[in-house]
Amino acid sequence: MQNLKEVKHFINGEYVAGGQGSFENINPATGKLNSTVHEADRNLVDQAVSSARAALNSDWGKMPVAERSKLLCAVADGVNKRFDEFLQAEIADTGKPVNLASHIDIPRGAANFTIFAELLKAFPSEAFQQDTPTGYGALNYSIRKPRGVIGVICPWNLPLLLMTWKVGPALACGNTVVVKPSEETPTTAALLGEVMNEVGIPKGVYNVVHGLGPDSAGQFLTEHPDVDGITFTGETVTGEAIMKAAAHGVRPVSMELGGKNAGVVFKDADMNKAIEGSMRSVFANCGQVCLNTERLYVERPIFEEFVSKLTDKAKGVTFGDPFSKETGSGPLISKVHRDKVLSYYQAAKDAGAEIHCGGGIPQVGGDYDAGWWIEPTIWTGLKETDKAVREEVFGPCVHIQPFDDEDEAIAMANDTPYGLATAIWTENLTQAHRVADQIDVGISWVNCWFLRDLRTPFGGNKSSGIGREGGQHAFEFYTETRNVCVQL
Ligand code: NAD
Repeated sequence: MQNLKEVKHFINGEYVAGGQGSFENINPATGKLNSTVHEADRNLVDQAVSSARAALNSDWGKMPVAERSKLLCAVADGVNKRFDEFLQAEIADTGKPVNLASHIDIPRGAANFTIFAELLKAFPSEAFQQDTPTGYGALNYSIRKPRGVIGVICPWNLPLLLMTWKVGPALACGNTVVVKPSEETPTTAALLGEVMNEVGIPKGVYNVVHGLGPDSAGQFLTEHPDVDGITFTGETVTGEAIMKAAAHGVRPVSMELGGKNAGVVFKDADMNKAIEGSMRSVFANCGQVCLNTERLYVERPIFEEFVSKLTDKAKGVTFGDPFSKETGSGPLISKVHRDKVLSYYQAAKDAGAEIHCGGGIPQVGGDYDAGWWIEPTIWTGLKETDKAVREEVFGPCVHIQPFDDEDEAIAMANDTPYGLATAIWTENLTQAHRVADQIDVGISWVNCWFLRDLRTPFGGNKSSGIGREGGQHAFEFYTETRNVCVQL
């Protein structure tokens, strides 16, 4: 078993040290050092890509689907067998509360292997009978081949879950991967290497290189000419940089990017459902979920009541030991990120927002006061053009705006460069369908939030992404479709 105080790369089934130095992995709940992480240089990234290529050309790419699928289900079982180790590592890296990590991050992180392994077995092909001048006709059919070596670049907000969301379908389709986890959260990706070895995934199928973005492992991996496709989750500006790198060699990209998601609450909504749901959609994971609601539009007759009820609940959010089941919110991921979120708190204040709760840093007590905690914050009274209403904050905050009719709510919800998700709260289902159809996002929730059926397409419109992952949609990216035309 590796020593998780010193996080190494995982290349060709071995833990490998070295590169261009190291960096610190800090526990955001306490500000203390979790581990030292080796930072890959171009040479190590090259070794990882070469081992992925070799594995693709030998066992993995040619293995029967049923056999590959069985191995991937064993990976899921392997993660679940070591559930507590993954849980501890994820909580130490992110500071997220145990209630969240044990219900979402680790179980979903494991399930991503099973779901895609099972779905691939039932994924159909297509065939066409074609008329030809000879009268005998031709038969066309499609076959799918692995795309090749996939570069997987991941964020820090749901580290294992968002990484396996890509690695699961990529491996199911017969690709091999080189993963670059976020520099903030390297540990579960490293731990997964042990599980891969334990269950007998061939060497070189799953590789991990650690590092940062520019001038580091992220850039080296995305620029590597032997990477056949890049799947990325993270900020829109980073996505733009990666697309430029992918342009060399015309490599395809799948991009899951930022959001500035709107929730719309109609006057006939079930108030309790809308409040409970909005508490989660705004504040879950300390506001660090790409799908979080940062703008709420509430129909005027219930506006005051809604703001007051949401504020009461937000004031009750508890901080403290992430391993305690009593803790409601963890910290932000880093000091840099907290400074960024606080700059939006200041901008909202300067723009004259009415601050109903929060706006600062809470006293958590003991060791935790050295962590990156922040208060849940609710504003009203800002203009739609104000910075805190326009830009993605990625923190536990929301601006609530009243509206008078459906068209106005839809127009405000759509007035953003992003198009990731929305949550609509109404008991009038005709209205729900009508509004869901008009909000320009990849996923619309009605009377719920973050309810995910993994067979459905997931992704963003506009600046929130390119392509869809999830279910068989993921297979579109992780395979190349070939046409075979047989003249009869
Ligand atoms: P980020 O873009 O800062 O970093 C993501 C990853 O990209 C990290 O591994 C980083 O090291 C790497 N990276 C940075 N610059 C790079 C470069 N030039 N070349 C190659 N790699 C580079 O994002 P983050 O701060 O880790 O995550 C938060 C962002 O992710 C938010 O914007 C959020 O909305 C978004 N996100 C989107 C989804 C989605 O599904 N749409 C899901 C989760 C998070």
